[in-house]
Amino acid sequence: MVHFTCDLCGKDLNASGDSRYVVKIDVFADFDPNQITEDDLDDDHMEQISEILQHDESCGRDETIEPARQGFRFDLCLCCRAKFVKDPLAREGIKLFDFSNN
Ligand SMILES: [Zn+2]
Repeated sequence: MVHFTCDLCGKDLNASGDSRYVVKIDVFADFDPNQITEDDLDDDHMEQISEILQHDESCGRDETIEPARQGFRFDLCLCCRAKFVKDPLAREGIKLFDFSNN
């Protein structure tokens, strides 16, 4: 028997007999990085490079080494499922975190 625990609260879903809910998240770039168009050739590349460098500094990551596609899978209990669907991106938590830094 496969053993499942809630990935948010750690509840043992086998022992509790609770329903298990699966969250699948697929993160991918909404463009083909290998596709070059006429517009790309006409663009001011120094300006774009500058923008990329500024963006990298702001988020602290080098986008060029991020995988093109990344998938996540989580098991949730009923209670954590309800919390997740209300705020899938945890915006409330991020707001609280930003607020506490002020
Ligand atoms: Zn849970």
